[in-house]
Amino acid sequence: MALTIAPCPFCGSEHLHIHHNGLSHCVVCESCKTCGPHSPALENAIGHWNQARRPTSTPDPADLHPMAGLWATGHG
Ligand SMILES: [Zn+2]
Repeated sequence: MALTIAPCPFCGSEHLHIHHNGLSHCVVCESCKTCGPHSPALENAIGHWNQARRPTSTPDPADLHPMAGLWATGHG
């Protein structure tokens, strides 16, 4: 079974390797050192990596205003 690993979603590099610590695998980019999601199954680790996307150009409002979440769920 051939597993295709998508290029790094952050820098576009195809210099990737599989890191494993005995319990889980993850895809690591050699260029920007990004480490993908860990998964016990190699296939899943690659799958998660392939599903990763570059950050959207529209930031989440919650990132701009961390207090926004508190305002929304706090005072009643
Ligand atoms: Zn990269």
